[in-house]
Amino acid sequence: MTFPLFDLHCDTAFEMEKRGEGLTENNLAVSLTHAKKISPYVQVMAFWTPQTLSDEAGWQAFLRVYHHFMDDPAVKAQRVRIGSYSASDGRPTLLFSIEDGRILAGDLSRLNALHALGVRIFTPFWAGENILGGAHDTDKGLSPFGRESLQKALALGMIPDLSHASVASAREILSLAEAAERPVIASHSNAYDLCPASRNLHREELQRIISCGGLIGLNLHKPFLSADGDATLSDLLRQIDYFLEHGAEKNLALGGDLDGSTPIPEIQTVGDYQKLWERLLHEGFPTSIVNDLFFGNASRFAESYFR
Ligand SMILES: [Zn+2]
Repeated sequence: MTFPLFDLHCDTAFEMEKRGEGLTENNLAVSLTHAKKISPYVQVMAFWTPQTLSDEAGWQAFLRVYHHFMDDPAVKAQRVRIGSYSASDGRPTLLFSIEDGRILAGDLSRLNALHALGVRIFTPFWAGENILGGAHDTDKGLSPFGRESLQKALALGMIPDLSHASVASAREILSLAEAAERPVIASHSNAYDLCPASRNLHREELQRIISCGGLIGLNLHKPFLSADGDATLSDLLRQIDYFLEHGAEKNLALGGDLDGSTPIPEIQTVGDYQKLWERLLHEGFPTSIVNDLFFGNASRFAESYFR
């Protein structure tokens, strides 16, 4: 059997460059081989850079990772579609996001460069305080440069990503997006009510994401699913129940954080999402809800915003 998947976040591109691996077959969680049973398949590839690098060195590292990715034989042979979304022609589609906006290093024109390279999702933060403001583990909001960057990203048509933002930063990002009448996503975050990790979403954020027509991608990382860090597929189902009960039926998606996290034992590779698909149907979730979670919600969003 095949199943559809639109996943909003993985760190595979960074790992590919670090280990000298390719996209077709590798020792990572995301590869075209692991995705053989997935159709249609859309994967957002996040470009993350380690904070051990300076902001400027981070920009250079991003360019290295990006070009390693674009030089991949599968990409060059156009066995995948890159950078924009339209109804599937059978090939996997790979979209781009930036994780940790500090690589702008104070230069707003880099947003134009990112947009020209196909980046459509902008995640301002990762951890701590950066040039844009405060991440989830701080109580800081946006800096003046952070505000300018978000306004420019919105004007360029990029979608702000609340994952990794502090409560204060998330509020400001939502307000900027609401003023611009644009949606916001949280590409790889779960519900704080069920698992109080600072990376998870508070109810106000959830309600405002729903109001603006955004997306929430469920994260497979064990510490974001269970307070003792020992999560399983059942904890992911609790999250799905919670979001559905709170009105996110048309906003809920998947954002597994594969190749950047410690995922639940049942889903170690992108192909293992099949176990979630089968479990939801087995538990009696309506097919339309399962389809929307796996693909429908994110693909409708992509048709409007990632073309
Ligand atoms: Zn992340």
